[in-house]
Amino acid sequence: MKAYFGPYGGQFVPETVMYALTELDQAFRYYRRDRQFKKSLAAYLRDYVGRPTPLYLAEGLTGKLKGPRIYLKREDLTHTGAHKINNTLGQVLLAKAMGKERIIAETGAGQHGVATATAATLFGLSCAIYMGETDIKRQAMNVTRMKLLGAEVIPVGSGSRTLKDAINEALRDWVTNISNTYYVIGSVVGPHPYPTIVREFQYVVGKEARQQIQKAAGRLPDVLVACVGGGSNAMGLFAPFAKDAVRFIGVEAAGSGIESGKHSAPLCAGRVGILHGTKSYLLQTDEGQISEAHSVAPGLDYPGVGPEHSSLKDTLRAEYVSVTDEEALEAFQLLSRTDGIIPALESSHAVAFVCKRASEFKKEDIVVINLSGRGDKDLDIVAQYLKEASHE
Ligand SMILES: *Cc1c(COP(=O)(O)O)cnc(C)c1O
Repeated sequence: MKAYFGPYGGQFVPETVMYALTELDQAFRYYRRDRQFKKSLAAYLRDYVGRPTPLYLAEGLTGKLKGPRIYLKREDLTHTGAHKINNTLGQVLLAKAMGKERIIAETGAGQHGVATATAATLFGLSCAIYMGETDIKRQAMNVTRMKLLGAEVIPVGSGSRTLKDAINEALRDWVTNISNTYYVIGSVVGPHPYPTIVREFQYVVGKEARQQIQKAAGRLPDVLVACVGGGSNAMGLFAPFAKDAVRFIGVEAAGSGIESGKHSAPLCAGRVGILHGTKSYLLQTDEGQISEAHSVAPGLDYPGVGPEHSSLKDTLRAEYVSVTDEEALEAFQLLSRTDGIIPALESSHAVAFVCKRASEFKKEDIVVINLSGRGDKDLDIVAQYLKEASHE
């Protein structure tokens, strides 16, 4: 497997981490072709996660927009309510095959922590989740979930007490306990081989969608649309269509607006640098310090993006656009009313883009949106927004 996507990716880590990455690379190369491993993963994806997820023609939204035919890939219907479980289940199964006894991860909003704790419990491995103290306060519900699932949540009090500090602590733990510990990364980010591993475990999303749309519409779609935080649900949808004449559109979070500086759109408005062991577009100051990301969607609030997306941007294979918090909140409400589906705020970004540009598509065009998760987790945020909006 290659460590670079064009000039992006690589392994910008201390020497002590290299041993662990090499071991992981070798194990993944072996098990991805191992019949028993593949059979076991497929069975858990079917019986535990609930795959295949449906591909649903959103009649309400399609009718309302009078635009292209819109299909939703329903990752919101998976166990735990988002695509993240596809990856954590795969990685924890890999950890078990490698003989590891202990799982660690870091989490910002808590969603990756919950998905990791779920998979660790399923396979009977102990689990520790690093989380910044600020995030622990903001995401009390997910902390409760992780604890219920039997994980230990380790508070990180250094730096800004958020995700990037939790990443540092998780890496330190991994290097110290490498012989029995597996580090689960939650998106197509981090040093090689993680971006490839996570893409391969999310590949199932696009593979199913490709078969489903051919059956439903008799042909491939014209456009695929997915939100981009780290970029795993987008990579999972795009990858199986890599050689097809299908447009890829990744939607980043413009937060309060790109010009406000408060956004989470490294591909649209960032510069190339190194974060989390990988070279990619990211949000940074003139001095090269990582800037804070802003988005109403907890899962899009990350200052970097997967290196493969940076390459797809430069080669123009994919287009990257952004939508604001406000536009995403509108789409959240719209899809709830048109089709009775409450989408995650992250996925609402992808929906919002299609709503905004509906008139630019032809009526017979087929658009597939990855509905990466369900919105139940976001009700407090949305209720707060609606309250403020009604007072204005
Ligand atoms: C975490 C999350 C995302 C963002 O992660 P990607 O790696 O960009 O897919 C998107 N949607 C939902 C529902 C999430 O939980």
